[in-house]
Amino acid sequence: MESKLYYSLDCTEDLNTLLSNTEEEGLQIERTKTLFEEIRASVNNNDEQDRSFWRPVLPWGGVYTIRAGRKAISCIPLYVKISLKNTCTIDGFLMLLYVILRENQTFPREVGIFLGKEFVDHFLHLMDSYDYTTVKLLWIWDRMSKQQYRSEIHRAALEIDLFGNEHENFTKNLENLMSTVQESLCTNWGCPARFQELLNQTININPPLEPPHRDLIQSAVDEFFCPKILLCKEMGCDGLREFSQRVFCHGPPPFVILNMQLWKSEDLAYVPYHLDLSQHRYLLEGATLFSKEEHHYSAAFQIDGNWLHYDGLRSDNLILLNRPPELLLLSSLVYIRASDK
Ligand SMILES: [Zn+2]
Repeated sequence: MESKLYYSLDCTEDLNTLLSNTEEEGLQIERTKTLFEEIRASVNNNDEQDRSFWRPVLPWGGVYTIRAGRKAISCIPLYVKISLKNTCTIDGFLMLLYVILRENQTFPREVGIFLGKEFVDHFLHLMDSYDYTTVKLLWIWDRMSKQQYRSEIHRAALEIDLFGNEHENFTKNLENLMSTVQESLCTNWGCPARFQELLNQTININPPLEPPHRDLIQSAVDEFFCPKILLCKEMGCDGLREFSQRVFCHGPPPFVILNMQLWKSEDLAYVPYHLDLSQHRYLLEGATLFSKEEHHYSAAFQIDGNWLHYDGLRSDNLILLNRPPELLLLSSLVYIRASDK
């Protein structure tokens, strides 16, 4: 039984099973508005008494029933319940991804180049159908399984525990969306590795050692992208290494996630609304927040300049804020590319 279950989780057919299951259960109700339009409407017509969205969005965890096969003789389908735990490591980013894709007309096509058109279409459809557990499974199966995901199978029930780090569980699974490259050349002809190419799939920016005169975060981003000269670190080499300007491998991506895990809250009193990344202009769209005490992630994002806080663990899990949030418990900052107009 156990090995069969494992196989059924592992095989590529699963995504199709997952999606046909949804249709079977009649969850495909035609709606006139997308979830995004509903949230936007509630943001614009909010009343002071009740600032939470009228229904839970992407609640923490989830239970999914999957048809695992049939008993040969009786033809009775076998069902397996899959419980999802500690999903906050993907929930906040899924929420942000949804808002970004729905808010910007050309982004679904662009993101589809990296994550697959099918994935993007299914993702948007499931979110708009309020089918949140399936959304999470779609992410786990379609994206995470390619990288690092190994499920633990228990005798009685199947459980997927996403406890961990949201950058491991989300950001690293975005393929080459944010890939950048920087070349470097050592001045020493005898250097064991004179020419080097530094490829990064994610954007980790370090807090500056000495406070600069201007915006800390913009300075850290410049440090990541700008040309520089450093002492060569190759064994036995005393040359200087000249680094070129870092560039995006596939052009400026529709959105970027800056990993802010190394930043202290006192450095984050000011978060810039505009950012220049490798000569392209980006605008602050949202952030993910990490509470150390609870080991829990939540997210904040804006729609038409109004800030919302999403926390899958709360019963009212999408709340309109009175003013922009203080982003002092940051895990990441999310910026979207400004339109070329
Ligand atoms: Zn060298």
